Amino acid sequence: MPDLPPFRNEPVLELRRASERGTLTDALGELDARLPLRVPVWIGDDRRDGAELVSTDPAAPDRVVATAAIGTAAEAEQAVATARDALDSWSRTPAEERAHALVRAAGRLRIRRAELAALAVRECGKPWAEADADICEAIDFLEYYARGAIELDRGAALVQVPGERNALRYAPRGVTAVIAPWNFPLAIPLGMTAAALATGNTAVLKPAEQAPGCALALVEALREGGVPAGAIALLPGAGETGAALAAHRDVATIAFTGSGAVGLELMRTAATLPDGARQLTRVVAEMGGKNCVIVDADADLDDAVPAIAQSAFAYAGQKCSAASRILVHEAIADVLLERLGGAVGVLEVGPADTWGTDVPPVIEREAQERVERYARIAAAQGDVVAEATGPGGPGWYVPARVVADLPADSEVLRDEIFGPLLTVERVSGVEEACERVDALPFALTGGLFSRNPHVVEEVVRRTPVGNLYVNRAITGAMVGRQPFGGNRLSGTGTKAGGPGYLLQFVEPRVVTENTVRHGLVV
Ligand code: ADP
Repeated sequence: MPDLPPFRNEPVLELRRASERGTLTDALGELDARLPLRVPVWIGDDRRDGAELVSTDPAAPDRVVATAAIGTAAEAEQAVATARDALDSWSRTPAEERAHALVRAAGRLRIRRAELAALAVRECGKPWAEADADICEAIDFLEYYARGAIELDRGAALVQVPGERNALRYAPRGVTAVIAPWNFPLAIPLGMTAAALATGNTAVLKPAEQAPGCALALVEALREGGVPAGAIALLPGAGETGAALAAHRDVATIAFTGSGAVGLELMRTAATLPDGARQLTRVVAEMGGKNCVIVDADADLDDAVPAIAQSAFAYAGQKCSAASRILVHEAIADVLLERLGGAVGVLEVGPADTWGTDVPPVIEREAQERVERYARIAAAQGDVVAEATGPGGPGWYVPARVVADLPADSEVLRDEIFGPLLTVERVSGVEEACERVDALPFALTGGLFSRNPHVVEEVVRRTPVGNLYVNRAITGAMVGRQPFGGNRLSGTGTKAGGPGYLLQFVEPRVVTENTVRHGLVV
């Protein structure tokens, strides 16, 4: 089997080229002609179609993008049993062979790239550039973990002494339940699934109820790439399906990305050992954030303003890493507010499929209501500095808003809102900004704009976040370049797309052999 070339990130499309845009627009037309997609519960070779679950276009809620069967408790049981049966063969498959299956799956995604970007546009309201980045990241996860698993399979070096041979090997933990969110409908479910499969585990994917169509394409790619049918199951459904899956006693690892409440629920589930359990369930969780950007008095506002607008409003603030609080030095607060107000006031709020849309609708009605509720509180407590409104309906549109000078105890400054609402606070300096960041229970991403290397060093030392970005936007982590994940209540401290991530999916085994032999057994 040929060695894999070194990892490199999949290049995003150059969307300023008319030809690239044309390809994507054509793909959207072809996709629309096929809607709604039908997504089965898919366990081994059994497919059960159903239409209990309906996913719709956030920009046009009457457009049904996919109808899916909802995995029942019995099907969760069947999926785990099938994955357990497939474990022996898949875990014995050499790491290189598994890696090549994942790399072939990446090839399948490349072939379907335009179609899948169009699907992310339709099903999750991702503007084109975001949809394209999502599929590139999905490809990256396959390629990166394929290589990482080969490396991990070599074990780790231990101290050796005469007469003794020590080896550290990593074995798969077992069946992995992957419970995924909708905001990166390709990259996140596939990243968690690829990590499990690369290291020899089998997996059951429970995608978000808002994105079953995207998930089907992922499982198809994995199977077409050569992952055995029994090793990867698709179990669409909502929270109950995820709960039934996670509670199964043969689930060794739960890989989850989503809200803090559900993450904690899954940790409680994992800590409750059912009768007959023979293994502790590990939870790999990425949860919420409340991401702050510090702007010091010497910041270059030509950099800071567009980077902040991008970080807060791209994909309508629905990235885990999105900026939600700006902590600005009081000496430049008025200038920043004026310029940020100007930048945000001209953002285009509109459908994801329209070239030039900056802020698409939010994912669903519930999200629209939640963000508007916080916006009303913010408007009552502070100053609305900018508001970019879009089409009224029927999509789940929310204006992009900047609100300044909220009281320190406002829930708007505390809660994860997950929408296009950015707050700005004045601080006396970086010291006070760091204290406010440190007071938060979340620690996912953060940003700093400063020209002073001593200030940069001090903020690096003090900030608890998993990913700190200096003098740039705080979203857009790239696999292998910015391993991504938060600390504190933002997650279990793992780093997707980083060197240590695969260790979550394996158990270490040390073998020590006495090599001083006394005679031969014949
Ligand atoms: P969000 O609020 O962003 O939708 P959630 O945490 O609610 O985030 O959802 C993330 C994933 O967790 C989805 O696949 C969802 O269906 C699943 N989920 C929701 N509730 C539960 C639960 N009680 N047990 C297991 N999975 C759940």
